[in-house]
Amino acid sequence: MALHTGRHFLQIPGPTNIPDRVLRAMDRSALDHRGPEFAEFGFAVFSGMQRIFRTKQPVIIFPSSGTGAWEAAIVNTLSPGDKVLLAETGQFAVLWKGIAEKFKLDLEFLPTDWRRGADVAEIEARLASDKLHQIKAVLVIHNETSTGCVTHPLEVRKALNRTNHPALLMVDTISGLASMEYEHDAWGIDISVGGSQKGMMLPPGLSFNAVSEKALAISKANTSLRSYWDWHDMLEFNKIGTFPYTPAINLLFALREAIAMLEEEGLENVFARHKRHAAATRAAAKVWGLELVCLDPNAYSPSLTAVMTPEGHDADAFRKVVLDNFDMSLGTGLGKLKGRAFRIGHIGHFNDLMLMGTLAGVEMGLDLAKVPHRAGGVLAAMDILKNRDVVAMPKAAVA
Ligand SMILES: *Cc1c(COP(=O)(O)O)cnc(C)c1O
Repeated sequence: MALHTGRHFLQIPGPTNIPDRVLRAMDRSALDHRGPEFAEFGFAVFSGMQRIFRTKQPVIIFPSSGTGAWEAAIVNTLSPGDKVLLAETGQFAVLWKGIAEKFKLDLEFLPTDWRRGADVAEIEARLASDKLHQIKAVLVIHNETSTGCVTHPLEVRKALNRTNHPALLMVDTISGLASMEYEHDAWGIDISVGGSQKGMMLPPGLSFNAVSEKALAISKANTSLRSYWDWHDMLEFNKIGTFPYTPAINLLFALREAIAMLEEEGLENVFARHKRHAAATRAAAKVWGLELVCLDPNAYSPSLTAVMTPEGHDADAFRKVVLDNFDMSLGTGLGKLKGRAFRIGHIGHFNDLMLMGTLAGVEMGLDLAKVPHRAGGVLAAMDILKNRDVVAMPKAAVA
């Protein structure tokens, strides 16, 4: 292992770079979570997360990775045998399906080629044909982190409305939240699933469920067994500013600081920044002559770009060259993209020169790993970043 100096470049799409301010906010002793100071702090993080999800509804905070909040969405509202729909947009859809099946849901998986978002017309056709309303929930991955393709949750809400279908709309925005526009209330989402270590810029270890009134009512009537993930135990204690069990207190200190940072920058500016970095990254890939995994310009992700390596060139061998030479971690290809693609995370605590360092590391790595490409991708990205007003994003991509 070579000795490296300076900062490691952690350019995977989660966990992302943690701001020093957030690290410092955690570096203190915990608080008594049943003591007099706690409630004010608890209410501050609850209301902060409501502003991030853009909801007036409760946001439940679990001490878990995002996977826990996936499970919580299922066990609170669904029962064995319930029919649910999910489009196979990539590896994260495969993983959520795995959880649904462990809870014996009857999951209908709508295939895609992993190179675009969900086919909303197909979802709508399935809903329209479900006259008996056997489908209890439609699950959507907002930002498919394995492919860099976005499915717009509002399009799915419109499909539910057009078909007058009462199914719950559950959206995984774990790698979308705080890096692209998200509107829990205005888009009619029933359950939003979030996580701490992507756009929220925190260490891994917190996850979120934002829940609509309808989802809460369904969960009250749902007799499926659950304990740790039960929303209602949580909400009873959240009402008085605390938790039913010891929360991840120092991560909550970090969360309060991250919310402050996002609001100081302004969420609109945060989203514009991500789009700009994504556009610059795609410009580089275009000059390199490397194909993007995502084939639909309307679905390009603002938070990461997944890039294919040419046939016969192992993406993980390339990633190893980059790590060994330049101390930069790029995201591996997941699931069936293993070895075929690498992922550049440009999400979270990030700026223009961090992106330039990232892209320079990729371009030098392509050269050293002898991956066929054209030089000059870095220059193309510079051209975009020089002009601070450019947001070269197709209009419908994140609405
Ligand atoms: C990261 C991620 C997850 C899983 O989160 P963990 O924190 O690893 O459990 C789920 N869905 C998406 C879209 C993700 O990006």
